[in-house]
Amino acid sequence: MSQFTIIDAHAHIFPAKIAQKATQNIGAFYDIPMCHTGAADVLLQRGERIGVTRYLVCSTATRPAQVESINSFIHDQCAEHPEFFGFATLHPAYDRIEEELDRVQEMGLHGIKLHPDFQTFDIDSAEAMAMYRHIGARGLPILFHTGDNRYDYSAPRRLRRVAEAFPDLVCIGAHFGGYQAWHESMQSLRSCPNVFFDTSSTLAFVSPDEATDMLHYFGVHRFLWGSDFPMWDHREEYHRFMALPLTDPERERIFNGTFRQLFGVS
Ligand SMILES: [Zn+2]
Repeated sequence: MSQFTIIDAHAHIFPAKIAQKATQNIGAFYDIPMCHTGAADVLLQRGERIGVTRYLVCSTATRPAQVESINSFIHDQCAEHPEFFGFATLHPAYDRIEEELDRVQEMGLHGIKLHPDFQTFDIDSAEAMAMYRHIGARGLPILFHTGDNRYDYSAPRRLRRVAEAFPDLVCIGAHFGGYQAWHESMQSLRSCPNVFFDTSSTLAFVSPDEATDMLHYFGVHRFLWGSDFPMWDHREEYHRFMALPLTDPERERIFNGTFRQLFGVS
């Protein structure tokens, strides 16, 4: 257990019958062995070991036809588990965006998660920009997977174009703004005040000094703590984070303060 209130701002869950397969697919995509199977009960068990009190949960529609069923699934999981804070999914090629956003808001979901590399669209394509206009008009934030040195879909410099086109849209660039693209993230995103970041899927790849330098370069007030479950184990990610030479108020800010500010939750 931790002295801090911990909110996990990036966790994936899948329906039980596909959880194992979906988890294997992500592991294969990234060539990283997954720590766990992405099921709600496993997430709660693992997070509880470090005292996580709330989880931003999401799942990505790789095809437009999956959007509605995934959003219903996330809603049902949030109804069942009060610890869950649900983000919906959309897809630029999905043709009922306005209607689905109505439903997403009626279901009480809090934002949209997109993964341009899984969904194979450029994060700043015309179709995606049209979708962000609808999302932004409703005041919903977007959690973007960002960065991959093998693909260009979610490159940090593309996210910068989105953030500049929609200055009121809250953009969360996962993985310090660019998984395996940390240098480009630092070049592209520091000057975008509506871009926030999470710490997930990064601390295993950079040194504690590099991570700390990035946190201070962007500003710790822009960071959320995330596990990227089922990719990583909560306890291991907690220890990686606690190994960074940060002050306790900085840790508190990242563990829960930024989340509480962005989402107005206590
Ligand atoms: Zn994710």
